[in-house]
Amino acid sequence: MDVLDPAVSTPQPLDDARTQLRQAVGLLGYDEGMFAMLASPRREVTVSIPLRRDDGTTELLTGHRVQHNFSRGPAKGGLRYSKDVTLDEVRALAMWMTWKCALLNVPYGGAKGGVRIDPRQYSTAELERVTRRYTSEISPMIGPERDIPAPDVGTDEQTMAWMMDTYSVQHGHTVLGVTTGKPVSLGGSLGRATATSRGVVHVAGAALRSRGIEPARATAAVQGFGKVGRYAARFLDETGVRVIAVSDQYGAVASSSGLDIAALERHVDATGSVVGFGCGEEITHDDLLTSEVDLLVPAAVEGVLHGGNAHRIRAQVIVEGANGPTTPEADLVLRAADRLVVPDILANAGGVIVSYFEWVQANQAYWWSADEVELRLADRMLSAWEHVSRHAERLGVPLRTAATCLAVERVAQAHQLRGLYP
Ligand code: NAD
Repeated sequence: MDVLDPAVSTPQPLDDARTQLRQAVGLLGYDEGMFAMLASPRREVTVSIPLRRDDGTTELLTGHRVQHNFSRGPAKGGLRYSKDVTLDEVRALAMWMTWKCALLNVPYGGAKGGVRIDPRQYSTAELERVTRRYTSEISPMIGPERDIPAPDVGTDEQTMAWMMDTYSVQHGHTVLGVTTGKPVSLGGSLGRATATSRGVVHVAGAALRSRGIEPARATAAVQGFGKVGRYAARFLDETGVRVIAVSDQYGAVASSSGLDIAALERHVDATGSVVGFGCGEEITHDDLLTSEVDLLVPAAVEGVLHGGNAHRIRAQVIVEGANGPTTPEADLVLRAADRLVVPDILANAGGVIVSYFEWVQANQAYWWSADEVELRLADRMLSAWEHVSRHAERLGVPLRTAATCLAVERVAQAHQLRGLYP
């Protein structure tokens, strides 16, 4: 059985996000009106993106931008390029961004964008035209005080540079604070490119120790070898964790004595995939998720741990590098099996924390050193870990429930303090 089989795991991220919210709202004692307000996006737009292809033909693409909430500050969230993007997926991802920003106490609401495109099928020049047209279409919604995009699946710092440039040209002056995750030479922050993975590894270390497992003696499997998974594997390896299995969308590789991550990175740079890496054996996606390891880091897409495979997960600790990798059904199974699941809104918050640092630096036109960024990131991640674990213990609930309650309460308080207009 393969996780990529849609019959086994068609992800329903919006249902999952609403189930999690429903539970938190129930525990916090809010009424149906508050649930309805928090379950619905504040604003959303769907745009058509006509693309002139390099061969002269025209193709019509679809893009979305959803602002779930901006009660605590401007909306913030990534932009995804994937052939699987749907409006409901973007809505779910935007909601999770609201909780993540509130949990980490960065002064933002949540947003997300997506374009339904497989970026690997397009040239760089075509991707630039898609990005600029999409940015132009959504530009009335974005801006440093409105909504600040960042990279996500299928986009990168070059995408953010094109977005920033398009928005700036339209406004007649350079607006560095309109996107984060930009190249360092163009107002990006030192440490942003690796921030999500650093955060994942800080929290993974704390989570393993909470289960009496010393990271230097632990084993791990990482799903996804993109911006999050690749550096998570590298930093785990540097911490002394033996990374024994890694995957990407094309396949998975494993070695029980530990993969040589530096060599694997060189292989991926040369070939575009982990597949064919000589110093390990090929395994299936399902084998990777069910590997006998101390730590599993899903760092790819939503819904990969579901009712059909959760009972076969053998990792003691699961740290969610991806957004929404675990369905509510899988959460119940993993809880019953006494697995520790560190939820996405805590585990992968390093990216938005350093995006916040980047926005602060851009707005002040004053740049911090790499050490300063790393120290502040570690401090915020570990404080959030402490806060969420204590709350979970106090309430006797899983970490996800505790984290969602803390976040939802902060957002609900902002709603209550601001009141309804008119
Ligand atoms: P990316 O596009 O850089 O990499 C995605 C990786 O996942 C690729 O290696 C791809 O081949 C692999 N993949 C896709 N489908 C797969 C599957 N079914 N099985 C195995 N591998 C698969 O994207 P990213 O930025 O690394 O994002 C990964 C996840 O982390 C997403 O859920 C994203 O929302 C989340 N996230 C990213 C950031 C960030 O800063 N980039 C921050 C927070 C959360």
